[in-house]
Amino acid sequence: MKRAPRFCIAVLPGDGIGPEIMASCLQVLDVLQDRLGGLSLEFRHLEGGAAHYQKTGCAFSEASMDVCRKADAVLFGAIGLPHVRYPDGTEITTQCDLRRDMDLYAGIRLIRSYPGLPRVLGDKRAARINLVVVREQTEGLLWSRGRGLLEDDRVARDTMLVSRDGSRRVCEFAFRVAERRAQMRRRPAKVTCVDKADVLSSMAFFRRVFCEVAELHPEVASGCAYADATAMNLVRFPWEFDILVTESVLGGIFSDLAAGLVGSLGLVPSADIGEKHAVFQPAHGSAPDIAGQGSANPVAQVLSAALMFDWLAERHAEPRLAHGARILEHAVDKALATVCPVEFGGQDGTSAITQAIMAQIRKS
Ligand code: ATP
Repeated sequence: MKRAPRFCIAVLPGDGIGPEIMASCLQVLDVLQDRLGGLSLEFRHLEGGAAHYQKTGCAFSEASMDVCRKADAVLFGAIGLPHVRYPDGTEITTQCDLRRDMDLYAGIRLIRSYPGLPRVLGDKRAARINLVVVREQTEGLLWSRGRGLLEDDRVARDTMLVSRDGSRRVCEFAFRVAERRAQMRRRPAKVTCVDKADVLSSMAFFRRVFCEVAELHPEVASGCAYADATAMNLVRFPWEFDILVTESVLGGIFSDLAAGLVGSLGLVPSADIGEKHAVFQPAHGSAPDIAGQGSANPVAQVLSAALMFDWLAERHAEPRLAHGARILEHAVDKALATVCPVEFGGQDGTSAITQAIMAQIRKS
């Protein structure tokens, strides 16, 4: 008889609302495991982050990093507190350390509106917002993290690095996302390269590599757009966008902007994917302004776990996990029609939303 698949998941709740939404997500995954039967997730709980740095002088130990490297996947909450900084003035960003260490070159963020929730934009078509931001995250301007130069307290320099291989692999990734999305949604997908190719040679190069990759995927529509025009058009008609692929800093800005258009960062899951490893975390930060109040929305964390299930399903040819991802997504859809989260002006905080999601999984 085939043994039940067992997966080791490194769990890093982190700072601020991280532990609150992670606890919610683990409760949901417990119910999902019961519902799926025969699937075994072993959670390895890790400490790390800004509070941990304050306490111990170390943000994330090498031993914990090693647990992440050996795990099948990493489920991450949120890390960083504005008042806790390294001596050079930068914040604790363990998520960036993981990206660099495990070569997690593709960041993916899924932004969609939920019809049951109050709309931010007046236009009815805003109910159709459903887009993906794919950001390169091992180079671009973030390559300069930890490598910036300050000369005589007079001039600071950060370098934007764009390589052919780095650009090609993230563009390939975006087209694979498009192919998969077209199949699942039964409609053509479109990938748009977003850059400042009009002024920066690094980005003109990124665009050139994008176009070469696009030629290898003639079945997927593609185009290029400047970042400034895209910022405006994302607000004017966000429902027209499908998949955006871009440099690391721009990708971070566009995904937060798009999250604002659907009402909350608390709805936006994210995954950092490499060839061998992957980290799954909400698109938002530790939100210290609402920590400890029980009002954080756990949906982004739960949907990040759904992304993790999909990634593991593909890697291990385990369709039960893909089924688990669909159950989670469906449960969130249904639950969000029955609650109104605090950040939308409602009364429903972490616990109420968690209960609503679990109830929908039990019903499914
Ligand atoms: P970072 O720079 O680490 O990404 P940040 O300081 O830009 O973080 P976040 O921590 O992501 O910002 O929070 C931005 C805003 O979104 C805050 O007002 C916060 O309360 C809100 N927010 C973030 N996550 C959630 C959530 N899960 N539920 C409700 N509101 C949230």
